[in-house]
Amino acid sequence: MKTPAYAAPAARAPLVPFTIDRREPGPHEVLIDIRYCGVCHSDIHQVRDEWGDAVFPMVPGHEIAGMVSRVGSAVTRWKVGDVVGVGVFVDSCRRCEACRAGEEQYCERPVSWTYNSTEQDGRTPTFGGYSTRITVDEAYVLRIPAALPLDRAAPLLCAGITTYSPLRHFGVRAGDPVGIVGLGGLGHVAVRLAKAMGAHVTVLSHSPGKRADALRLGADDFLATTDAGVFDGNLKRFTFILDTVSAAHAYDPYIEMLRRDGVMVLVGLPGPSPLGAPALINARRRLAGSNNGGIRETQEMLDFCARHGVAADIEKIPIQQINDAYERTVRGDVRYRFVIDLASLA
Ligand code: NAP
Ligand code: ZN
Ligand code: ZN
Repeated sequence: MKTPAYAAPAARAPLVPFTIDRREPGPHEVLIDIRYCGVCHSDIHQVRDEWGDAVFPMVPGHEIAGMVSRVGSAVTRWKVGDVVGVGVFVDSCRRCEACRAGEEQYCERPVSWTYNSTEQDGRTPTFGGYSTRITVDEAYVLRIPAALPLDRAAPLLCAGITTYSPLRHFGVRAGDPVGIVGLGGLGHVAVRLAKAMGAHVTVLSHSPGKRADALRLGADDFLATTDAGVFDGNLKRFTFILDTVSAAHAYDPYIEMLRRDGVMVLVGLPGPSPLGAPALINARRRLAGSNNGGIRETQEMLDFCARHGVAADIEKIPIQQINDAYERTVRGDVRYRFVIDLASLA
């Protein structure tokens, strides 16, 4: 099925209109009409080939929300009209220990990422949500609860699960002093999630002008990391820090804000950033990383968001504005997630 899309033809090139071929759903697959797709900073890193090995032409987009429009003959979980989402991966081997544990994002064989990747045959390129429809195996589709507005729910498929998963995995509990570093697409959802879990949340931001927004989003406190003395003045304050920053920065000053046995989790994926051993050693602190979340946990996150009224703050754009949206995201000029309205491509 010929399907309109937007693609980057080469690294760093502007995205342009492009046509892709979506397959008819196989027996276990569904066809989804895409209504909205969030713009994740990972889209920009990959279009700009900042992680290496990028494949072009690239159709980015892994915060996909829409409706099931066709189902394969053996599909049991979905029917036409269901409101669904697709996140950062569309398939995995299903046999390895990670897949069997429901942590498909850590599949020991190559994961089929939603774009800039291949299907499980290792050959067929995957194309993401900057397009009007997508064909996906029914086991890799999420249900978007009716309580969530569809456009504001789209970013939960990456920004939501990427921040929910480490908050849960590392056992953040009510009353815990938690720091969220970077108030962007991931960070602003993380504030809402951590608050909904009952944590005492402090935003650490290099943008002093975001203070009022941080408090409006529910943060209890705000630290501008541009203020002199902010690091020395807040040593050993947090039990858990989530670092969502997209640009290289020294990790040590943040780690030193952790209490003894505290954990800092990196989800931001910038280039190499400095790290010294003493910051960890001095208080038996731990530095960890976390990648997205599995299908089961992503569904749990969406249901949690519906119960607690958590969704993204968005600026909706027609796809024709995508290149400007990339520039603005890199400049920090978005409150707090661009979401493409795919009606603009129909
Ligand atoms: P984003 O909306 O651009 O937000 C990034 C935030 O980082 C900005 O809002 C800003 O917050 C801070 N920042 C940016 N430049 C900075 C600089 N030079 N110095 C200090 N802070 C700076 O990006 P996003 O979509 O939330 O993604 C954030 C990162 O997470 C990206 O690297 C992305 O690739 C990665 N990511 C990882 C996963 C995963 O599974 N691990 C999933 C999705 C995304 P302040 O203005 O508040 O300082
Ligand atoms: Zn993402
Ligand atoms: Zn696997």
